[in-house]
Amino acid sequence: MAKLKTDDNSLNLSIEALGKSLGAAQIGFSDLSVLPENKRMGYNHGITVIIRLSDGILNQIEAEPTQTYFSHYRSVNRLIDLITLRIILFLEELGYPSVAIPASQSVSDPDDAFTGAFQHKTGAVLSGLGWIGRSALFIHPSYGPRVRMGTVLTNAPIQAGNPVTQSACGFCRACVTACPAMAIEGRLWEPGLARNELYDAFSCSNHMKEAYQHIGRGAVCGLCMVACPVGQNNALAKL
Ligand code: SF4
Ligand code: SF4
Repeated sequence: MAKLKTDDNSLNLSIEALGKSLGAAQIGFSDLSVLPENKRMGYNHGITVIIRLSDGILNQIEAEPTQTYFSHYRSVNRLIDLITLRIILFLEELGYPSVAIPASQSVSDPDDAFTGAFQHKTGAVLSGLGWIGRSALFIHPSYGPRVRMGTVLTNAPIQAGNPVTQSACGFCRACVTACPAMAIEGRLWEPGLARNELYDAFSCSNHMKEAYQHIGRGAVCGLCMVACPVGQNNALAKL
């Protein structure tokens, strides 16, 4: 099949149509060349797949996560991995080898035990899909933090969106107050700010393992997510 020209938006549209037909709420396209090469596996572009989490399930979370939320979390991860797989197979049919980064990643990084092979929220912000909250979660303007994401890394000639460069959290501190581990520092995000300036991943992880061992062996919490006013009561919001 013929390769597409770089000024042609049709590849974006085809990927978007494929992703949305499989359940994605939105697809974002980013230029990753601003990142060090070893942080993007040598690929120049990112494709971010956003899946909206169920409001019905999230609204059941009160003082602690629920078993239903844990199951939902895993189901959504599987859906994301299916969509990113379908996108890389589509791109490879066009002649562009590509890599799908799993929704939930586990890699051993001596510098950061809680990071993944590629940070989905980095691609999402560079795509212009939203900002990083005080909670260090990605915040979508319509769905808030009530999303999960996957990423495709590729050199296919996609058209990148405009990065978001400012937090829109304003004076809100709902997630800071809601965190039972006091893991959220309360700072406003700005591009280049390290994650540990926003929140303490070690305290968060420890709290989940100790307090919620009975729910998915301490793999989820979600209290800072459901406390966020952005995306609440917004299930039918359209971008
Ligand atoms: S997931 Fe839970 S423990 Fe971790 S930062 Fe959010 S509220 Fe705090
Ligand atoms: S709860 Fe408030 S401060 Fe925290 S991420 Fe959401 S908007 Fe930002």
